[in-house]
This record gives sequence, structure tokens and C-alpha cells, in this order.
Amino acid sequence: MSIHPRRPTRQITVGDARVGFVRIGGGLFGTTPAPVSVQTMTTGYTHEVPACVAEINRLTAAGADIVRVAVPEKKDTAALKEILQQVRVPIVADVHFHFQRALEAVEAGVHKIRLNPGNIQDRAQVRDVIQACKSRNLPIRIGVNEGSIIERRDKQKRLKELGQVFSDSKRGYMLAIMVTKLEEYLDIFYEEDFYDISISAKSMDAATVIEAYTEISKRFDHPLHLGVTHAGPKETGCIRSVAALGTLLANGIGDTIRISYASDAVYEVEDGLELLYALSLRERKGVDLIACPTCGRIQVDLISLVQDVRKMVSTKIDLPIKLAVMGCIVNGPGEAEGADVAVFAGDRRGIIYVQGEKVANVPEEQILEKLLAECLAFQEKVRRGEAKLGEKKVDIIPPAPLGELGSGWQQIAGKKQAGAVGLTIGNS
Ligand code: SF4
Repeated sequence: MSIHPRRPTRQITVGDARVGFVRIGGGLFGTTPAPVSVQTMTTGYTHEVPACVAEINRLTAAGADIVRVAVPEKKDTAALKEILQQVRVPIVADVHFHFQRALEAVEAGVHKIRLNPGNIQDRAQVRDVIQACKSRNLPIRIGVNEGSIIERRDKQKRLKELGQVFSDSKRGYMLAIMVTKLEEYLDIFYEEDFYDISISAKSMDAATVIEAYTEISKRFDHPLHLGVTHAGPKETGCIRSVAALGTLLANGIGDTIRISYASDAVYEVEDGLELLYALSLRERKGVDLIACPTCGRIQVDLISLVQDVRKMVSTKIDLPIKLAVMGCIVNGPGEAEGADVAVFAGDRRGIIYVQGEKVANVPEEQILEKLLAECLAFQEKVRRGEAKLGEKKVDIIPPAPLGELGSGWQQIAGKKQAGAVGLTIGNS
């Protein structure tokens, strides 16, 4: 259940019988709202078929529901047919400037077209694309992104629009331009009796994204594709994207999302899914890992342990087991309440609990291996119907002796020192 009820929209369907169908939006005209989907975009050349297929398949394995590819040139649309035969996810062709690329992509069998009102404006050309999509039941996304919405060809119009944007209330004018252009563009679609549309209105500014989508959600009943454009590297782009998309989703706005980073697109998919899991908008696949933030009481090298646990369970556990990794026994039990499996550090050891029952007490170097074994055994138990996720709370009795609190930091410092010594020797 989302924090705010999802906004009902029309529904569009992307895909075919071979790759499967992904529905976006819903709730109007007798449709059931689809789960919010996660999209991403390939980073390589589309015309380099083997590399493009490999990237799409990697993104699919990471959990992408829909993948978009750029088709700037004819050789890119020419490659689509071959690509489509080798992937298992709906593919969207991202079209800018050349409406012919859209027609070629439709002909190649792509599952959706993305058009930009900022650079494909000719009504007759837009109509041709609409008719091509209509004949194959393909939806179209209209993306009025901030970066390309200002007029570029007509000098007078450009100066006027830029003048408005750089006036005192920059955000207000940008929103006005986005909404106006969207309305004008949508008119072409409505004239053709075409409603299989999703809308995006991206900006690099999180506040503009929130305002733009909120405004658009009040005016149109088409599903919304959320995103922050040019969000930057993963480290900062993540905050920017989560601030904007999280706010909108929590308010019930948004039907499909793309987080965009200047980085490997797998991170976009992973973070997009994590955002939806965090808001309970998607059923979690795989472990729900919680870990203490560490403090002066940790009794093992918790920071490395958490990273190792994350890597280990991500490939081996596919049930949403709640797993807690806690640095000490003092506050850990309270913080891990509700975990199915938990490990608490104590005196350079790991005490492992499965649904409230203590199952192991192992030295620090064996924690990882033992924890995985317990998670796998618990997963099997759940699969056999002998246990239920979230059934029992962790109930801990502190071990005696407790050990020296904070000894984990001595361990980390020792490792660092050893690393530094190794480096000196290696470089000399
Ligand atoms: S679990 Fe222990 S080490 Fe971790 S933050 Fe809480 S008190 Fe500190």
C-alpha cells in the first residue's frame, strides 16, 4: 500500500507475446492499476548489436521492466530487428529530431516510441508516427524535458522563451512552457484519436520535477513516466532522484520510473527498484538487508561485513528475507526487531538468530559463511512451507561475557595499518 493512494490513470501496454507485456498506470476505464515499473536506457551504440544485446540482457537480469535504446541514425533502427530477437524485455526507441527513425523503429517491431515535442514539431510528421503506432497498437511517450523544450529553430520564439525562463520566476515560466507545449502536442494525438500515451516532464532540478509532474497529474489522465534528467553521477544523482521521485510517488503520482545516472545503467535499475521497495510500491525480490549505522560499540569490522553480506545474498537468496546485521548486542536486538535472520556481534564473534532462535555463535572470520548457510536453510524451510517470513520476532539474550565494546574499531584500524604496510613494501 502506498503512502498516498495511486492516482488513477488510463493504462498503456508495452511489449508482445514473446517478451511479455508490461502495463503502465491504470485505474480508469475498468483497468486495474499496474505495479510501478522500472525503466532504464542502454549506454552503448544501438548499432553495435552484440554489445547492445549484452547490455539489455544485463539490465533485464538486474530487474529492468522496460529498456530504452537511442536510435539517432538509420544504422541504429536497422539493428533493431536483430536486437529484438535476442532480448526478453520490451524495448522503447528513443527518437529525437528525425521522425523517420520512429517509422523505421515501428517497422522493426519495437514496442514503444518516445517522442520529444522540443525537436519533432511538424504536425504532419507527428501524425505519420501516430498512425504507424496506431496500426500496431504501440504506445508513445511524450517527453517534454526541460533541456530540449525551449525553441531552437525559430530565433524570435527562442529569445522570447529564454527571456521568460531567465526572468525572476524561472521555475514558474519553465512549468508554463512545459505544460503549454505538452497541451499543444497532445492536441495532435487527440485529433488522431490516439490515447495510448505516457507523459514525462523531466528537469535536472528536483523541485521543478515535483512541481511539473504535480501540475501535469491534475490536467491529464495519461500515465506518468517519472525521472530527473541529467541527474549526474550515482553518488549525487541518487539523492536528487529520490528527493523528486520519492516525493511524487509518496503522493500517489507516477506509474513508471527511470532513475538516470552518468554511470552503469544497472545502478539505475537497482536504485529504482530499491526506491519502490522502500515505499512498498513493489513486492521485494531478494533480501531486505538492514544494518546498524555503527558506533563506538561495534565489536567486529561491521562495515566490511555488511558489504560482504550484501554481495553474498544478492545472488543466492531470492526470497524477501529480512536480514539484520548488527554491530553489538547492546542496542542491536531492538534495532533488528522483526528480522527473520539476524547476526549480532559480540566479543569478536557473531551470534546468529533465525526467527528468534539462537542457532550459532561463531568467530568473526566464520560469520559470513555461517550466515549464508543459515539464510539458505531458512529459505528452503519457507519454500517447503515449514516457516513463514516475518512470523517471529528476534528475541535476544545478551551473551556473557559481553566482550569489549568498540573492539571492532581496533580491528578495522589494525587492518588499515596492515594494508598500509603492505603498500609500502609493494612500492619499494
Ligand atoms: S547495534 Fe550496537 S554498534 Fe550498532 S549502532 Fe547500535 S549500539 Fe552501535
